[in-house]
Amino acid sequence: MLKIAIQKSGRLYEDSIKLLKECGIQLNNGNKQLKTIAENFPLEVYFLRDDDIPQYVYDGVADIGIVGENVLLEKNKDIDLVYRLGFGKCRLSIAVPKTMQYRSITDLNGLKIATTYSTILQKYLAEKKIPAEIHEISGSVEIAPGIGLADAICDLVSSGSTLFTNGLKEVEVILKSEAVLTANKNLSEENKNILEKLLLRINAVKTAKNNKYIILNAPNHQLQNIENVLPGMKSPTVTPLATEGWSSVQSVVNENDFWEVIEKLKQFEAEGILVIPIEKMIV
Ligand code: ATP
Ligand code: ZN
Repeated sequence: MLKIAIQKSGRLYEDSIKLLKECGIQLNNGNKQLKTIAENFPLEVYFLRDDDIPQYVYDGVADIGIVGENVLLEKNKDIDLVYRLGFGKCRLSIAVPKTMQYRSITDLNGLKIATTYSTILQKYLAEKKIPAEIHEISGSVEIAPGIGLADAICDLVSSGSTLFTNGLKEVEVILKSEAVLTANKNLSEENKNILEKLLLRINAVKTAKNNKYIILNAPNHQLQNIENVLPGMKSPTVTPLATEGWSSVQSVVNENDFWEVIEKLKQFEAEGILVIPIEKMIV
């Protein structure tokens, strides 16, 4: 049985549960227990505060866990980062009062910076050779400059609206973070196998999300051009249409290149382009 720790409540909870569901793992966690056993996969799920997860994984109380990379780096435990999960995206940034004239990082020299991420901040300031004072607090970091507790802050940002409403502006990005799967370094053989099975499923879900299935009609004289922009998993599937001189083409397109590919397809006279989400993709 593999034990996974996920956040009990908070920003990573929903997406963590959703990921397990999409991997076909059924959980019965209706009434917010501390832990639950999956019905159809050898997995036990522990619901914990995110800050505690690296320690529990290090101690082997849990074998694996889902946390923000920011928490993983801040806690600095000797555990593995196994997989970047693509949700919970945010950045750890330094922000200063809007009114401050900020030209470069050396403007932080001698300032007092409030944060809950003192390990990461300290390492960053040392690398950049900035002599600033770190003031560690446990929460509500964004109000620190307003109440005269600090000159600047280092905190998580996603849209920036919290900074804005507190009269701050983001000036340095220290870390781009997302939720990651972390694992204890000494898993039993049995648990390594279960983790591998889980990773296969996670990968299938993630790959599917990053790709779209595409079907279109094209005149035969453009097929070569169209095949060149649609590599597919091996090559596109081409079948003749009842209309003379035309074919139907099916392929898989990566989300990142999607619009570029569509524009090219239009140039090559593609018509009736259908784009369909993929549920799972095993490559
Ligand atoms: P807990 O009660 O488990 O300690 P928390 O209040 O420390 O929860 P949340 O605010 O739920 O934590 O954030 C959990 C994680 O979500 C963060 O560590 C970070 O990786 C990610 N995250 C994504 N966007 C943001 C954001 N805008 N602000 C804070 N965290 C974010
Ligand atoms: Zn926390």
